[in-house]
Amino acid sequence: MLIDGHGRTVNYLRVSVTERCNFRCQYCMPEKPFSWVPKENLLSFEELFLFMKVAIDEGVNKIRITGGEPLLREDLDTFIKMIHDYKPDIDLALTTNAYLLPQTAQRLKDAGLKRLNISLDSLKPAVAHNIAQKDVLEQVLKGIDKALEVGLGVKINMVPMKGINDDEILDIIAYCKERNIKVRFIEYMENSHANKTIEGMHGREILEKVKEKHTIRALGREGASPSFNYALDDGYEFGLIDPHKHDFCENCNRIRLTAEGHLIPCLYFDEAMSIADAVKKGDIKAASEVLATVLKDKPKENRWIEGELEEGQEVSNRAFYETGG
Ligand code: SAM
Ligand code: SF4
Repeated sequence: MLIDGHGRTVNYLRVSVTERCNFRCQYCMPEKPFSWVPKENLLSFEELFLFMKVAIDEGVNKIRITGGEPLLREDLDTFIKMIHDYKPDIDLALTTNAYLLPQTAQRLKDAGLKRLNISLDSLKPAVAHNIAQKDVLEQVLKGIDKALEVGLGVKINMVPMKGINDDEILDIIAYCKERNIKVRFIEYMENSHANKTIEGMHGREILEKVKEKHTIRALGREGASPSFNYALDDGYEFGLIDPHKHDFCENCNRIRLTAEGHLIPCLYFDEAMSIADAVKKGDIKAASEVLATVLKDKPKENRWIEGELEEGQEVSNRAFYETGG
């Protein structure tokens, strides 16, 4: 079992397979990074998998593939099959913008993928275009339909932003309810890479919007999940991911691995340790030692939590497109 320095059990690994993306979401990657990490610096699937086996053998039973846009990485289904064949009962999921799903969903399902989290920030073509800086909506909706058709589990992620898509919270609930899929509203997390003009919505403001039409009942956090769940009067359940709330980090069970081999203990912070040398040499002991150190040093909580960041202090410098959110 993996236990961090604050006594929390860590059983969840998020693996970013690329920082590249076919969208330029305003809250994540509004401009092309000055230079992408050169392809030769990326770990191969075999190298990533060597570390993942160490983590699985030590207690990780939940893996999420993410990015950048993970479906841009060639032969992703082969990687998914490697993980699935090693431990078929692992909870194996992927986060995607859905743009490439129409042509990949069946292969992902056949390779052993169980679930998808799909980003859908608007149901209006022009608004979706403004957020992703590309005309994406039609293809994204096709991707969602295809995922459902092939039998993948689907959850929707929406980041509500003031004056941009805050008038669509109820529409996104209606869209998801009609398809019997869960939506999770994610509070915008301030970071130095995002468009500086974005004004996020606090969880309580998101809930106020939902209450304009529905009565809601708090259900609480589901184990170590980052999502706090609510039910509407008719029983439909949705989630709120609220990293600004004081108890958000209490049961954190996650660590993150980037495509270059940086092992990151917390989404907020820059500090990371590399497992690249260890896996390139096939040195399992060294990889396991890096894992132990990162766990020992995992911060108690992020600094998005209200009151944590003092006036004038910088927001997180960690890029979501590297760590995968
Ligand atoms: N490209 C994929 C996608 O968009 O789903 C996977 C990577 S993306 C970085 C993972 C998640 O992070 C998405 O749901 C996205 O909405 C979320 N995200 C990115 N930047 C964010 C920010 N500043 N605040 C809150 N969520 C953010
Ligand atoms: Fe790409 Fe996802 Fe970031 Fe949007 S949120 S720019 S789709 S990595």
